[in-house]
Amino acid sequence: MKGGPGVFPSKKGDIGVIHFIRTMEIKFERYHLQSDLRSPFEGFETISVPTEVRVDPLTKRRSRIITWGLPSPGKFDFSNMAEESKGCLFCLENIFQKTPQFMKEIVPEGRVCIGRAVGFPNLNPVGSYGSIVVLCREHFLSLNQLTPEIYEEGLSVAIEIIRRTTAFDPDTRHWQISQNFLLPGGSTILHPHLQVIGDPIPTNEMEWLLDASSSYYQKNGTSYWNDLIQTEKELGKRYITRIGKVHWFVSFAPIGFNEVCASAEGHGSVATLGKEEIASLARGIASTLKYYDGKGLNSFNLSIYSISGEAHYQLLTRIISRTPFQPYYLNDWTSFEILHSELTSNIIPEELCREIQPYFA
Ligand SMILES: [Zn+2]
Repeated sequence: MKGGPGVFPSKKGDIGVIHFIRTMEIKFERYHLQSDLRSPFEGFETISVPTEVRVDPLTKRRSRIITWGLPSPGKFDFSNMAEESKGCLFCLENIFQKTPQFMKEIVPEGRVCIGRAVGFPNLNPVGSYGSIVVLCREHFLSLNQLTPEIYEEGLSVAIEIIRRTTAFDPDTRHWQISQNFLLPGGSTILHPHLQVIGDPIPTNEMEWLLDASSSYYQKNGTSYWNDLIQTEKELGKRYITRIGKVHWFVSFAPIGFNEVCASAEGHGSVATLGKEEIASLARGIASTLKYYDGKGLNSFNLSIYSISGEAHYQLLTRIISRTPFQPYYLNDWTSFEILHSELTSNIIPEELCREIQPYFA
């Protein structure tokens, strides 16, 4: 690969860094790629199609920003699907009879309930501690019906499960609170719910975040997360807003469509969050989902990467939209993402920040 910081492509096909900003030690690297072809829509005249490759300032992972081939908005009517699947395991008539209970040593009362949210162990776990938090009584809610209050209760249950499990087994330091919404997001159950998963070992993503955060600290003597927030605030192009101690922003190099992130100041784990911080997190999640709904999107994935005992890491939340569910829907993960770990985004991050800001007001 030719080129380097500040070097422009010298001839067609060369790759060069076209933009290089150095603020503290955070580097926003971008590469401009271009594909030339003769288009049938332009009388077979030569056209150039650009792609921007961005490198994540922390993990150095590359993402491609593409703006063609946007998935069409979902116009799917869920009423039949919701009607047919009503009375599921998570519906009120079944939830207290047919879902598992926690071990007595962890949750003596069997399940954790706060408001409408109910938490219990996952019958099909993927690790040491797997739980489900059913968010609401309604069997189906669209993205604009998932309110901050629903998330506040749901996150509170998830965090209570994490606190109690960690008190029982302190080695379980790596937790995720995740959500898969609708089939494109990987969920077969329509009823809105969270997954709470805890293990003594990190996931790949957690390990990359931890390793990169501590190398950044070793090099610079400062926290990457504080520096990032400071830098994004100063640049003003991707910083959405601050809700209490939670900073919301769009990533420079997203790993999914319409990616929105949050960082909670002064926390690595959700276990130490106070009521107000949980509410701030809930509000931002609901605002993001409202924005997705406004764009005709209906499916998403969410994850909160909660890790305790790591001095240089700060609690990260990441939400991405998935291609809308409808008949013959398009999966947005192709061989590029799944086999090359090269991720794509179909919106320019700075544009997403501008568009989403009013939803956080
Ligand atoms: Zn249900």
